[in-house]
Amino acid sequence: MYKGKGTRICRNCGTARAIIRKYGLRICRRCFREMAESIGFRKYGG
Ligand SMILES: [Zn+2]
Repeated sequence: MYKGKGTRICRNCGTARAIIRKYGLRICRRCFREMAESIGFRKYGG
């Protein structure tokens, strides 16, 4: 059972900072960038 229904953490590294919920990914910015590169998504200009 999860504690709370609004738990928003990165499903990749577990951090609760800078979570991106776009595309239903629910990962942090850092992991998103890594993932974006791996899938060839380069619209993320940091
Ligand atoms: Zn992460």
